[in-house]
Amino acid sequence: MKQITLNTQREYECDVLVCGGGVSGFAAAVSAARCGVRTILIEPGGFLGGTATKGLVAPFMTCYDAEGKERIIKGLYSELEERLLEAGGAVAADRCLGENSYNGYRPMGHKGVMPFDGEIIKIAFEQMCLEAGVKLLYHTTLIGCERQGKNISCVYAADSNDIISVNAKMFIDTTGSAVLAYKAGAETMRGNEDGIMQTNSMFFTISGVDKAFVDEHMRKTKERRERFYMDAIEQGKKDGTFPCGTPTIRMFENPNGTYSVNMAQIDEQMNELSVEEITKGEIEQRLQIQKLIEFMRKNIPGLENIELVATASDLGIRESRRIVGKTVFCLEDIKDARKFEDRIAVCANSIDIHQKDRVNYTTHIGANYYIPLSCLISNSVDNLLTAGKSLSADKYAFAAVRVMPPCIAMGEAAGITAALAAANNTSAGEVPFKDVQKILIENGAFLD
Ligand SMILES: Cc1cc2nc3c(=O)[nH]c(=O)nc-3n(C[C@H](O)[C@H](O)[C@H](O)COP(=O)(O)OP(=O)(O)OC[C@H]3O[C@@H](n4cnc5c(N)ncnc54)[C@H](O)[C@@H]3O)c2cc1C
Repeated sequence: MKQITLNTQREYECDVLVCGGGVSGFAAAVSAARCGVRTILIEPGGFLGGTATKGLVAPFMTCYDAEGKERIIKGLYSELEERLLEAGGAVAADRCLGENSYNGYRPMGHKGVMPFDGEIIKIAFEQMCLEAGVKLLYHTTLIGCERQGKNISCVYAADSNDIISVNAKMFIDTTGSAVLAYKAGAETMRGNEDGIMQTNSMFFTISGVDKAFVDEHMRKTKERRERFYMDAIEQGKKDGTFPCGTPTIRMFENPNGTYSVNMAQIDEQMNELSVEEITKGEIEQRLQIQKLIEFMRKNIPGLENIELVATASDLGIRESRRIVGKTVFCLEDIKDARKFEDRIAVCANSIDIHQKDRVNYTTHIGANYYIPLSCLISNSVDNLLTAGKSLSADKYAFAAVRVMPPCIAMGEAAGITAALAAANNTSAGEVPFKDVQKILIENGAFLD
């Protein structure tokens, strides 16, 4: 490997640097800045949202308890919802408690989802950041960092012209694949004990669905096979007209009447950290999507006239590298509904594992469960936190909280913790969790 010397052209200084502007990074940056510390957010794209926007993934999964009765993810998530509703960019979660086009007619685990408009949410994300005082640097990719002892001292990033360095007291890795943790030599994990990762998928959006027909089909057809046209899909797999392992029709109405489709899938295991494999996957997914559209037009009543509106600009990576934190959040913690003292969020999302031919939805025991702050704090680098997809968790706990509302809740807590550590010149692990909980509760979070 060639050694290169980085000549940096610009230098930035802040208290908290957030790397990665997906939903977790957005939440972390807003929350840190609202605590009054200088916060910078770097993002390789030209807008925020990550998987939610460039990945076209929608809707937000549920923010309700297991029975769909009480809203349990609140705080910044509720604020975002209000913001979107004001701008006409969402359907309120409490309108999606039944079984309807917005939750894909899936009562299990999908009560209280929130469909959103992918363009309006980009504006909401960035305006909330700017109002909080976050400095946004788009088109800026983390490429390395420097360490001094157990701390990261600065991050190197590349924009389209220059290499820059950002000095900060605290760093939050919300890259979705723990890039900063990896570059800093922090302990990380990837994959499962069986070596199997969740499948990856490219979302796409369609128009032209005969909503009245589909609604009526779903109303009168309760049997799952018939309801989601599983026989037609199986036949298509046999005769080669259905191009992947997805077993059911999976589409979700958006506020503007288009539908987000979660059906394309790379069936084989791939290395999501290899740019060559991602490129190949993206090229193949776009061709697969054309075949899926053709199949649906020919075989699924109500979808005869669909048109492709857009394919995601990036492949949706469900699972990637994660940090090893002070706690590894585990399946047992969910099963036992372990009420961590340092809990920062309450969730009820099912353990949702996508595999080649099926999706494993293992609902937990019917009780809510709790995410600890300590699974967001690196066990090996003192000023490094994460949120969202890179949390420290086993494959099951990860699969439960990888959806967007918990990611936002984690981001909110990580941002507050980083800000308190920066303000008091302590490590992330030294921040009293009660101080974080106090601010979360003041901001409307629910922690019981
Ligand atoms: C196919 C698929 C379907 C899903 N369906 C749903 C669903 O229906 N509902 C739901 O709620 N959730 C769903 N999820 C889960 C959810 O979308 C993601 O887990 C969540 O959005 C992750 O957010 P994040 O901010 O942690 O990471 P990401 O969205 O991955 O964001 C990471 C950000 O970091 C940036 N970044 C990457 N590398 C660097 C770098 N080197 N330097 C700086 N920045 C970097 C990226 O550009 C990106 O903006 C789905 C996920 C997938 C993949």
